[in-house]
Amino acid sequence: MRYSKAFIPTLKEVPKDATTPSHVLLLRGGFVRMVGAGIYEMLPLGRRVLSKIERTVRREMDDAGAQEVLMPALLPAEYFQETGRYDSFGGALFRLKDRKGAEYNLGPTHEEIITDMVRRDVKSYRQLPLNLYQIQMKFRDEPRPRAGILRCREFLMKDAYSFDVDEAHALESYAVMREAYHRIFKQLGLDYRVVAADSGAMGGSTSAEFQVLVQTGEDSLVVCSSCDYAANVEVAETTLPTDASSADETPDATKVHTPGVGSIADVVAFLTPTLPGISPARMLKSLLYTADERVVMAVVRGDDDVNEIRLARALGVSEVVLASAEDVRKATGAQVGFAGPVGFEGEIVLDPAAAAVADAVIGANETDHHLAHVRHGRDFEGRVASIRMVKEGDPCPSCGAELRSFRGIEGGHVFVLGTHYSAKMGATFLDPEGEEKPLVMGCYGIGVSRLMAAAIEQHHDDDGILWPMSIAPYQVILTPLGKEAGPLQAAESLYDELRALGVEALLDDRAERPGVKFKDADLLGIPLRVTIGQRGLDAGMLELKRRDAKEAEKVPLAETAARVATWVTGLGGELSPRRARA
Ligand SMILES: [Zn+2]
Repeated sequence: MRYSKAFIPTLKEVPKDATTPSHVLLLRGGFVRMVGAGIYEMLPLGRRVLSKIERTVRREMDDAGAQEVLMPALLPAEYFQETGRYDSFGGALFRLKDRKGAEYNLGPTHEEIITDMVRRDVKSYRQLPLNLYQIQMKFRDEPRPRAGILRCREFLMKDAYSFDVDEAHALESYAVMREAYHRIFKQLGLDYRVVAADSGAMGGSTSAEFQVLVQTGEDSLVVCSSCDYAANVEVAETTLPTDASSADETPDATKVHTPGVGSIADVVAFLTPTLPGISPARMLKSLLYTADERVVMAVVRGDDDVNEIRLARALGVSEVVLASAEDVRKATGAQVGFAGPVGFEGEIVLDPAAAAVADAVIGANETDHHLAHVRHGRDFEGRVASIRMVKEGDPCPSCGAELRSFRGIEGGHVFVLGTHYSAKMGATFLDPEGEEKPLVMGCYGIGVSRLMAAAIEQHHDDDGILWPMSIAPYQVILTPLGKEAGPLQAAESLYDELRALGVEALLDDRAERPGVKFKDADLLGIPLRVTIGQRGLDAGMLELKRRDAKEAEKVPLAETAARVATWVTGLGGELSPRRARA
């Protein structure tokens, strides 16, 4: 492509409301434009990147034995009504009516439609297993669309659905998809981890998220620094931290006056002169929650946080809600910041790490007062259960190495559905004995347009994008410099040579200053750049530079095209068959 003919409307200014790197750079680089809140169009460069992601996904799905279909986005309401999701999907479902008043919804996902497709024509175990997928726009009415194409209301997704005769075979289909996902994420050049979600009802791990590791993601993860353990912090396994404050003897509990200091940090600072050795790890943090009408006290070490999912599980309730300031006053007789387990009348749940602190400082259930030298088992009782949030530096539950905190973008999800949809929709088959059974399903999603943004979140610097070679809109940009005819002529013939080799090249034939051309090349993130200046030409040399390298390499003119082609394939790019064109 010649830059002078290309539609690449770059922006100099950072657009308002764009804060995440991918949002800013996709707009600035002229890859996408916003049409409405959470609705984007792909400009030529954006379309090229998206097509490459689709190509990788499609190839791996096909290789894994899945067959591509295309379901409608406009769905008669009866399908979602059949499973109850027409109502249970809530506000996220786009609902509409046709001219006759019939109800429809836009597809947020396609379990009902695919289940219907299969129940019509699959009747026998001989027709199984079956895995069908599509790459298609999905619609969800997000309450707060944000971060450009990371979280929007219309987005491109690959969704696959497997159908098997029983659980064992469904797990095999699931394993095949999981392996295909590994190949896809690797080929896309993404640093990712597979994060186990909750184990399903069928036993074993039947659900996993493919999380792209970035600084800006929505999900909080802990990732082992040594093995491949990774988990969402909310479900991560906890381990008992070593107790830094063990004491054989604990002095008698003593009330101390702590006027106006309620937070852990303030109390530590205030007490340090009178209580040497006080630290957040020797404080106990007492938080009040409402759980099914009752008020419960959760106690963790001062340097820990309560994992509310674990607390709810320990209490056998579906969720816990932090108590209001008024409820705290009612339950403890003190203001927020001074609650503590000694003398507390309600149920107390205590983390093992908190229980191990032998000489603790706690709130006294009296405004402006704390108790020092408190010991669990002597001064108060509480049920011990693991309720702390895993954090950076904790030992890995698999190998003991340090866990690191990351944020992640969920780029893919593999999931064994079981018979949830098939049972509701009567999607059955006859087994070899002639017995009618529900199909056992799995579903497998990849956020295709979201991965485009995730790739940028992971690969960018202050100057612009650094596309992985496999998904770059062009593999090399040719930058002739100066006003003389020589460099442009040399660039033209190199351009033809590269195209003959199947390299996707962008020829910057614009009459712009070198600084402008270099800035745009960096912004667009083309992985390789060939600089063609008159002085170099006189010496028979061109400059070849990787977008992610500081220094350029000098390459003989005659060898440049072959060298570029080698770099493209070496960095995971593909050479396309030559397109004959004048
Ligand atoms: Zn580990």
